[in-house]
Amino acid sequence: MRVDSLTKRFGRGDTALTALDDVSFEVRRGEVVALLGLSGSGKSTLLRHLDGLQAPTSGGGTVLGTDLATAVPAELRALRRRIGFVFQQFHLVGRLTVLENVCTGALGSLRGPRLGLFSYPRAVREAALGRLERVGLADWAFQRADTLSGGQQQRVAVARALMQEPSILLADEPVASLDPESSGQIMRLLKEVAEQGRLTVLCSLHQVDLALSWADRIVGLRHGRVVLDIPARGIDRATVMRLYASVGADAA
Ligand code: ADP
Ligand code: MG
Repeated sequence: MRVDSLTKRFGRGDTALTALDDVSFEVRRGEVVALLGLSGSGKSTLLRHLDGLQAPTSGGGTVLGTDLATAVPAELRALRRRIGFVFQQFHLVGRLTVLENVCTGALGSLRGPRLGLFSYPRAVREAALGRLERVGLADWAFQRADTLSGGQQQRVAVARALMQEPSILLADEPVASLDPESSGQIMRLLKEVAEQGRLTVLCSLHQVDLALSWADRIVGLRHGRVVLDIPARGIDRATVMRLYASVGADAA
């Protein structure tokens, strides 16, 4: 995936706000990239563009061969089917079982009526169970989703995002509402699924330490600009902070 001079402005005239300012970077297939930045730096806006949910004001990029600047809605919908998305707040349906929640990640199932587990084709149910095994929660398949811990719910959300065998997984602050131990587990899981599935992962975070532990590369955003694009290996926290500060960024 390549992001190319992507600029996004909200509003017009005096009240216009530049959320993304000439953002460019490249992500190789299978790479795990941490998108680091303070609140308001443009992380969510960037991820929404990559998922085809928002259109750039100028510039754009190429995601899985789709040109973000010129793609028509049908192309963006097709792109979205090849991308999994994980949110900070999990967005599970609490009263449904874990397995049903994973089933909703199958193509088209969000539009259809929710009539219980057996409204899903057997192949979907089996695939969902497979994904739950992958995230280590097969034993929880028939529990209500709201009985699980936050960390477990996020694992379910990852399983759901993997239903369509996506080529890219976008995660928007997936650990921001989790305790440190669960945060580490989720990051390790993202790293594992990236390695197993040659999946590209772009994950926004605000903890430098997690980025250093689990990412291959760190892209730093500040006020919508890329201020950092460095490998996460062989580098320590102090160096990241020094680099971040050297471009005028506040501590992330
Ligand atoms: P982050 O995810 O890093 O916290 P966001 O991408 O949510 O940052 O926001 C970047 C900037 O763009 C913020 O100043 C935010 O208020 C603004 N913004 C985001 N979405 C919209 C929108 N739909 N309309 C107007 N402003 C927006
Ligand atoms: Mg955000």
